[in-house]
Amino acid sequence: MVENYDQSGSLILRGRVFTMEEDGQVEAVLIEGRRMAGVGSFEKLQKRTRGKPKILDLRGRTILPGFIDSHTHLIGMGLEEIRLDLSGTHSLAAALEMVSERVRGSAPGEVIIAVNWDESLWKEKRAPTKEELDRVAHKNPLILRRVCGHQAVANVKALALIGKGWKRVDRTRGILLEDVCLNLDDVFPPSRDQLLSALKAAIGRAHRKGVTSVQDMAKPSHLWAYQRLRQRGELKIRAYINLPFAEEKRLSELGLETGFGDELLRLGGLKAFADGSIGAKTAALFSPYRGGKTKGLLLHSQKAIIEMVKRGEDGGHQLLIHAIGDRAIHQVLKAYEKGITSSNPLRHRIEHFELAREEDMEETRRLGILLSMQPNFIGNWSKPGGMYEKRLPRLRENNQFGLIREKGLRIALGSDCMPLSPLYGLRSVIDAPFPQQRLGIEEALRMYSLEPAYFSFEEEIKGSIKEGKLADLVVLSQDIFKEGSEGTEVDMTIWGGEIVYRR
Ligand SMILES: [Zn+2]
Repeated sequence: MVENYDQSGSLILRGRVFTMEEDGQVEAVLIEGRRMAGVGSFEKLQKRTRGKPKILDLRGRTILPGFIDSHTHLIGMGLEEIRLDLSGTHSLAAALEMVSERVRGSAPGEVIIAVNWDESLWKEKRAPTKEELDRVAHKNPLILRRVCGHQAVANVKALALIGKGWKRVDRTRGILLEDVCLNLDDVFPPSRDQLLSALKAAIGRAHRKGVTSVQDMAKPSHLWAYQRLRQRGELKIRAYINLPFAEEKRLSELGLETGFGDELLRLGGLKAFADGSIGAKTAALFSPYRGGKTKGLLLHSQKAIIEMVKRGEDGGHQLLIHAIGDRAIHQVLKAYEKGITSSNPLRHRIEHFELAREEDMEETRRLGILLSMQPNFIGNWSKPGGMYEKRLPRLRENNQFGLIREKGLRIALGSDCMPLSPLYGLRSVIDAPFPQQRLGIEEALRMYSLEPAYFSFEEEIKGSIKEGKLADLVVLSQDIFKEGSEGTEVDMTIWGGEIVYRR
C-alpha cells in the first residue's frame, strides 16, 4: 500500500520508534511532506490526519532517526566504486579483455583506472606490462592498480600526465609505487562526469546503509558536483561540506562562513591535519612505535597550528583538525587553548582522537572541544594480531570511547568510509575487545544521530524523531536492543519523507 506513497498525503510508520528525545520509545511517526508531523501513539496520530493516511506497519522492527555520518569522503569512495574492478579475474588475458571493453566504452582521452588485480590469482602469475596496456589503450591514459593499493602499472599516455614531483615512478617500465598509487585522484583528477557518477554511486551506498546525512571532507571540485546533482533533483542526502584549510583565505575573502547554505547543502568547516596515520607510522606519538625508534611526526610547529586556529576562529570557520597520535592531540589542544573563544561557540572539533591520553581527555572537556571518532577503526585494527598490536607500544589505549564518554565529552561517530556503514561501526564499538572502548547501543545510536546534528549546528532540524523535524528515518530489520541482534540490517531508508531505499 505504501509503494505508491508520493509525499502528497500522509504516511504513518508503526513499529518500535526510538526517538532520541525524552519520550524514548513510541509507537508511531506521522510524516507529511518532507517533515514529521507527529510522534506518539498510533491511534492518536491516525485521528489527527485529515483524509486517509497510508500506513506502514513495521511490527517489531526498529525505527530510528536516519544515520548521520560525521566523517566521510563520499566522492573518493564513489570513485572507487565506479572504477573497473578486476578482483574476480583468473587470468591476465581475461583482465585485459575487460579493460579493453571499458576502453571501447570511454571517450578518447578519458582517464581509465582499473583496480584490484592480483597476479597470484592469475594463470600467468605475473603483473601486466606497460606494452600490454599500450596495446589495449592508445587513446586513453590507463592505470591498473594492484589489490594492495601500493603498486600500479601505467601506459604511455598515463605516464605523460604524471608530474616530475612524484617519486617512485619507473617511466621505462611503467611501474608506479606508493605515493602516486595512493593519490590517484590527485595525479589524475577525475572528469566532471566521473565526479557526478561517483557522487551518485556514493549516495546509493549511503541509502543502503541507512545514512541520510553526511559531514563530508571534500574538495572544491566536489562542492561543484554536489551543487550540480542538487540542480538535477538527485541530491538525496544532506551534506555538510568541509573544505581543506588551504581554502581559508578564499572563503574568508568571500565572507563565507560555516553554516552558509541550507538543510540540503551547507558549508561546514575547515579540515586541517596535525599528523598522519598509525598504519604508516606517521601519527605523532610520545613514545616510539613498537620495535623501533620512530615516533611519527607533527605536520606543523606549535606556532603554526595556533596561527591556523586563530585564522579559523576569526573567519567564522569551524575547525576539524585531524589528530591521531597522543602527541598530535596534545599539540592541537594547546593550540585550541590559545586560539579560541571560551565555551567554543564555533564548535571546533578534533577528528579521530585515536590515541588520546587521559589528561588530554580532561583538557578536551575543559575547552569544550567536540570529538568526531570512528568506531570502525576498532573493528578493523584493534583485534588480537591486528594493525594496532603490530604498531603501538600500548595496545589497549586506542579509541577509548567508553572512557571518553565517561568523562562527559561529546562524541559524534563516523566511518571515514572504512567502510561507510553505521551498523558496522555500532557493532565494532559495542563488541570492542577492551572495556574502556565499549559503548552501549543507545548512546552509540545517539552519536550517529542527535550528536552529529549538533556538530553541524543542525540539532533543531534533524537528528531525532520529533514533530517538525525533517522526515529522515531508517528502519532496521529487527529490534536492535534485543540480545542476538547481530544480524540486524537496514530494511528501509526514508529521506525527506521519501522512501529512497528498500531491501
Ligand atoms: Zn578522513
